[in-house]
Formats: sequence, C-alpha cells, structure tokens
Amino acid sequence: MDYKLAVRDNHPEDTIIEIPGQAGITRIGKGYCTIIAGPCAVESREKYLEIAVQVKNMGAHILRGGAFKPRTSPYSFAGLGREGLKILEEAREITGLPVITELMDVRELDQILRYSDIIQIGSRNMQNYSLLREVGRVRKPVMIKRGLSATIEEWLLAAEYVLCEGNGEVILCERGIRTFEVMTRNTVDIAAVALLKDLSHLPVIVDPSHATGQRNLVGPVARAAIAAGADGLMIEVHQNPQEALSDGPQSLTPELFLDVLDHLKDLAALNHRKWGQAQ
Ligand code: PEP
Ligand code: MN
Repeated sequence: MDYKLAVRDNHPEDTIIEIPGQAGITRIGKGYCTIIAGPCAVESREKYLEIAVQVKNMGAHILRGGAFKPRTSPYSFAGLGREGLKILEEAREITGLPVITELMDVRELDQILRYSDIIQIGSRNMQNYSLLREVGRVRKPVMIKRGLSATIEEWLLAAEYVLCEGNGEVILCERGIRTFEVMTRNTVDIAAVALLKDLSHLPVIVDPSHATGQRNLVGPVARAAIAAGADGLMIEVHQNPQEALSDGPQSLTPELFLDVLDHLKDLAALNHRKWGQAQ
C-alpha cells in the first residue's frame, strides 16, 4: 500500500509529538492521555478567555477554538477570522497552554502558523491535497480529522501527503463518519482507533463531540475511545451552550466537562497513561 510512511513497517517506534509551552511540554502519543478542549468557535474575547482559563484549571492540556469555521450554510457564523486568532494568542499567553485551530484555506497558512501550535485540517478538507502538501512543508504538528465519509485507507493516504512532504508530526483524529444512522450526528468508529494504533505509529485522538452531536453521549464515547487505545480527546466546552453560535447541542458545560475529566483521569491511570503534560 502507498501509505508507507504512516505505517509501522519503516517506523516501528511510536511518534510522540511534543509541544513546548509556558506551562511545560505537552505530549501527544503513546503512553499519554491528552485533552484538547474549548468551544467550537472563538465567539468573543471575553467569552473565550473565560472558558480557556476554566478548562485549563479543570485539567485540559490544549485549547481549541475555530477562527475560520467551515459551515454547511453560507449564512451561518463562520468565525472571527484573524481577530479570533489574536484571541487564541492571548489565551495561550494567559493560560500557558498550546492552541489548535483549523486551517481552511492555504491563503491563511501564514496567519495560522503565527498564532497556532497545531494546525487542524478539518473533515471537509481531508482530501484537499494541495492544502495537505502545503502543511507537509511546514514545521508544525498537523491534526487531520477523518473525512465525513472517508475510509481508513483514504485517511491514512491523507496523512501520507503530509508525511511525504517532510512533516512527520501528524495526528489522526476520529470524529465519526456518515452512515445510515441519524439518531447520532455521526457514527463513531472505535474499531478504527484500535486498528490505527496497531497499524500506524501516529498518535490517534477522538472527538466525541462531533462524533455524537449530543452532550450526554460525549462522556461515554470519550471513555470508550481511551479504553480502545486513543491517545487523547478533543472535547467542545461552552459556558452557555444554549447560546453558542455553533454546535451548542454537543457542547459540555464546564461542570459536565469536569465530571467527564474526573472519570477519564481514573481510566487513564488504570491504563498507565500519563495525563498529557510532563515537564
Ligand atoms: C471542528 O473540530 O471544529 C470541526 C469543524 O470538526 P470537523 O472538521 O470534524 O467537522
Ligand atoms: Mn464544532
């Protein structure tokens, strides 16, 4: 198969990504349980800084927040753009945590490189091959979310595009796929997590928020993901989900997030995982 750089054959040791920050080095990969948390989108400076400090104090390791949002409808809130990136930068300074945000268009690459510690390639762009090649040429970790209807092979080949351009720091993120089932937003593929941890040396994380679309399912799926071998999770948290500009129904309140983390810490310890950050 053509995903030769992504598999263990030529790279038996696990890739562990290290992100230096003011609060120490954050690691993503085997042996760790790393939590990425924050709202779907950066909505305002006040709201973002507040939630960033809250999730940090609760135990999150990396902050998320979209500044350039891919929206199904052209009339929906599409993020604050560069202003959103600056808010992320401020949150990084205040909390000392690294940040991740989505790159939608190669024209925004320079801005994202300046403000973000990890580049997120969203599901809708998983097969945007020119974008993948561009992020393959930079020195910054890239998290590739699984395409809406992508097979595991297509997903690995997307990772291969980045790897073969010279960027070895790739993280795979399972976020559910489209199936005939409509009672959940997507269908989470837990077997893909176990399969990829076996086949590939790359870190695998799971996004139980987009995978389910429902806040009450986030905790159970998060636990299933870690039990199946995922190296971390990406979870949407909003201080007032009813008023969120995107993805309110799947966003946890800070209280619920704390509860989910409590269970996860026990599970991580049981599985001999370090809790994301190690000095
Ligand atoms: C996101 O994580 O902000 C997002 C848009 O998710 P996905 O690309 O998985 O739909
Ligand atoms: Mn979202």
